[in-house]
Amino acid sequence: MPNDSPDTPTKSPRNPFKNWIWVYVVVLAFIGGQWLLFGSYSAKETTWQEFRDQMLKNEDVASLTVINGERVEVYLLPEKLNKDRYEKISKNHPGPQYFFNIGSVDQFTGDLDEAIADLGIAEVPVKYEKRSNWLADAFSWIFPIVILVLLWLFLLRRMGGAGGKGGVNPFDFGKSSAKLFDQHNHSQVTFADVAGLDEAKVEIREIVDFLKNPDHYTRLGAKIPKGVMLIGPPGTGKTLLAKAVAGEAQVPFFSISGSEFVEMFVGVGASRVRDLFRKAKEKAPSIIFIDEIDAIGRSRGKAFSLQSNDERESTLNQLLTEMDGFGTNVGVIVLAATNRGDVLDKALLRPGRFDRHINLELPNVEERRAIFRVHIRSLVLAGDIDLESLSAQTPGFSGADIANICNEAALIAARRRKEKIDMRDFMDAVDRIIAGMEKKSKIISDDEKRIVAYHEAGHATASWHLPHADTLLKVSIVPRGKSLGAAWYLPQEHQIYTEDQFLDRLCAALGGRAAEEVVFGKISSGALDDLEKVTKLAYTMVAYYGLNPKLGNISYFDSTGQYDQSLHKPYSEETAQLIDEEVRKLVQKAYARTKKLLIEHRDQLETLAEQLLEKEVILKKDLPAIFGEKETKAGATSKKNIPAKP
Ligand code: ADP
Repeated sequence: MPNDSPDTPTKSPRNPFKNWIWVYVVVLAFIGGQWLLFGSYSAKETTWQEFRDQMLKNEDVASLTVINGERVEVYLLPEKLNKDRYEKISKNHPGPQYFFNIGSVDQFTGDLDEAIADLGIAEVPVKYEKRSNWLADAFSWIFPIVILVLLWLFLLRRMGGAGGKGGVNPFDFGKSSAKLFDQHNHSQVTFADVAGLDEAKVEIREIVDFLKNPDHYTRLGAKIPKGVMLIGPPGTGKTLLAKAVAGEAQVPFFSISGSEFVEMFVGVGASRVRDLFRKAKEKAPSIIFIDEIDAIGRSRGKAFSLQSNDERESTLNQLLTEMDGFGTNVGVIVLAATNRGDVLDKALLRPGRFDRHINLELPNVEERRAIFRVHIRSLVLAGDIDLESLSAQTPGFSGADIANICNEAALIAARRRKEKIDMRDFMDAVDRIIAGMEKKSKIISDDEKRIVAYHEAGHATASWHLPHADTLLKVSIVPRGKSLGAAWYLPQEHQIYTEDQFLDRLCAALGGRAAEEVVFGKISSGALDDLEKVTKLAYTMVAYYGLNPKLGNISYFDSTGQYDQSLHKPYSEETAQLIDEEVRKLVQKAYARTKKLLIEHRDQLETLAEQLLEKEVILKKDLPAIFGEKETKAGATSKKNIPAKP
């Protein structure tokens, strides 16, 4: 919030009606004024003919007043008001009792003179009056202005709101909308809520220490870092770490998202950056946290120049200037988080700005277990929860995914009206998050079901007989999410993969299609997902990992992300052809090998497929009865599936 006693996150939202009440008052006053002025006008409307044939003819008229040359007011003689024809007019009415509108004064006087002559009555006094209705006049020019001003305010509020929250004072437009956490307003998150990420926690704790005890460091001549960049995939706990810092640092902590700087108006972003740093400096020692900094910190110019955004650049420049500007000992440290470290401007990442980069990675088995432990703290659990197996089955899951599993398990248990959440709920939650909801109602013909069963049995049979393939956990032909069936594995978590492991993975992924060909003699569209994986894996083997003898030890991988932005490939046409050819050969070889394996074990393939058609799900414990014993390895879950539609 743009003032010095900033909004706390717990504060209830402002009541929009309260802010707008004066607008309602003004409008009501106008309407009321108009009503008073015109609504109480009690003269009755009449016509020229009625006036002439009744009032004039009977000599009831005392006088006439012509107003603004448009309207004639008729004053009747008091003694004539008793007549029957005026029974609707109050006797005490001071007049005018009637009025009528005229086309022009000339016409009216002409008609009147003529009528008087015709009727042979006495002249009637006529007055001419100019009346101005200041309220109506004022209304006619104030009203459009009021509308314009309201519209303007409304637009500004909408735009102010878009940057952060609704109900921002439009005159605080150029001010930053960072949330402030300080001694009055604590973040509830502590380091105990952050599981794993030990190295990151050490570094982050050190930052807090810099701020609290700068002398320890400056005494030895060290300069305190100005910025720390948290880089890592979504859901790995970057924001959570920052919140924990806010909860534990005991220094003011300003939190803002990168996108809140960017606004439609030029210059607003830069002015918000200035304002943010000014406030942070006032409260130094303090921490500024900018989430999703890639919204402003993307590299300037270059390949994306067509999409370049001047406003974003000037905001970034201002940020760079501010970070350079405050002296080392001012006591403001900037924390920033991004999923896209590769697109950030180099100037932002250089020492002196964000001196420290903390790379967060997806958690390993141990860390996942710790994250599960954090998230089950608040759940009501049955005694059979096996965190070991849960963390083993969730490789590649981020902290956010795990938090989601815990919540999903609780929801599933609640749906089943259970008192406690048990292991089955957790397993179902994992399945659901990996593959989507079970869709038992999906209509699949028997033929299609057969194809799916053989396809999945093909994956299972191939992987069972491949020495380096992942351990099979279960095979299912229950449709889930977009897939019609799936084989679930417990893969080992490796940091390095050997060529043999890659090849076995290729073969296992091709098992589905190979089984279709071996059994039915024809293939279907069901292998889309597998083929996509196979193609990508084969390309990475050839073009990135240098695993192809013809290409040799060459990698076209680009960790800086610049190739993505350029239209040119980093290799020649011939090399491109060679890569394509080698990839094709690799996949062909793997396919031939898989087919051979399935032909060899066709009886097992058919047994499994038939059992699948009967039971829909085959679990790990039933597999040795079909395949014989296999050495199991420790690891975790992934799946291969058939998409419902290509
Ligand atoms: P991001 O890295 O995208 O900023 P967040 O920090 O917002 O991700 O994480 C999202 C959620 O995931 C958190 O609110 C928390 O519940 C959970 N989470 C992520 N990492 C961890 C972790 N290391 N320990 C505990 N919970 C975590």
